[in-house]
Amino acid sequence: MSANGSVYELRNVTYRYAQQIAINDISLRISAGERVALIGPSGAGKSTLFKLLNGSVTPTAGTVTVFGADLAQTASRQRRRIQRQIGTIYQQLHLVGALQVIHNVNAGQLGDWSLAKAVLSLFWPLDSARVEAILADLGIADKLYLRTDQLSGGEQQRVALARVLLQNPAVILADEPIASIDPERSRSLMDILRRLSLSAQTTLITSLHTLEFAYSHFERTIGLRHGQIAFDCQTNAVTAPMIETLYAVDEADHE
Ligand code: ADP
Repeated sequence: MSANGSVYELRNVTYRYAQQIAINDISLRISAGERVALIGPSGAGKSTLFKLLNGSVTPTAGTVTVFGADLAQTASRQRRRIQRQIGTIYQQLHLVGALQVIHNVNAGQLGDWSLAKAVLSLFWPLDSARVEAILADLGIADKLYLRTDQLSGGEQQRVALARVLLQNPAVILADEPIASIDPERSRSLMDILRRLSLSAQTTLITSLHTLEFAYSHFERTIGLRHGQIAFDCQTNAVTAPMIETLYAVDEADHE
C-alpha cells in the first residue's frame, strides 16, 4: 500500500474502445477499507472502470495507480502479484457447472499454483479445510462436494464469491453482483460483502443498478454518466435530483 493509504489513484484516466470513449478523463482516489458504490445508467462506463481497476485493460490516457504502482509501467510478474490482491466478481460467474463446488472455489488459486498442482487439484482437492471454512461463513458448507450446477442461482453466486475470498484479496470489485438475483438474496449478498469488508478492512467497490443498497451498505457513492464522474460524495449526501440527473434520458437517445 502506498504511504498515504490509497489503494487506488486515478489521474485523468481515459479509456477508448475503437469508436467509443467509455471513460473520459476521470480522476479519483480510493483509500484502504472504503466501501464505494458505483452507480449510473447502462453504458455509463461502470464495467470499463472495473476493468481498469483490476488491470485487465490499461488506460488510453492517464494513469491508474494501484497500491502505489502504475500497472501499465509495472513488470508482468509484479503486476500479477498486485492483481492477485484484487478479487473481481463478474456478472457472469464463470463457474464450471459439471465440477464439484470445491474445484470451482479452488480455481481461484490457480494463478498461485504450479501447473502440476493445479492439475492434481482436480483429482485430489487441496486446501479443503480453508474452502470449507469459507463456505461455512457464506452459509453453504454442505455444498462442498456437490456438482455446482445442482446449486441455486444464489448459491452459485456464493461459490463465485468463495473463489474470490480464497485469494484473500485486499480489494473486492463486484460488477453488478445482484443484477440477476431476487431481492432477499441480494440483501444477503450485500450483507456478506459489507461484513467482510468491515472485518478484514477489505476495500469494496460495487456497481449497482439502483441506489437502494448504496444507502444501506456503502458510505461513499460515485455517480458515473457518459464516462465521467457526475458526483462523488458520501452516500447520505446523494439527493433525489442528483439521481434524476444521473439517470436522465438524453434527447439524443430518442433520435
Ligand atoms: P456500463 O457497465 O456502465 O453499462 P460499459 O463500461 O459496459 O458501461 O460501457 C461503456 C461504453 O463503452 C458504452 O458506450 C459501451 O457501448 C461501450 N463499450 C463497452 N464495451 C465495449 C467493447 N468491448 N467494444 C466497444 N465498445 C464498448
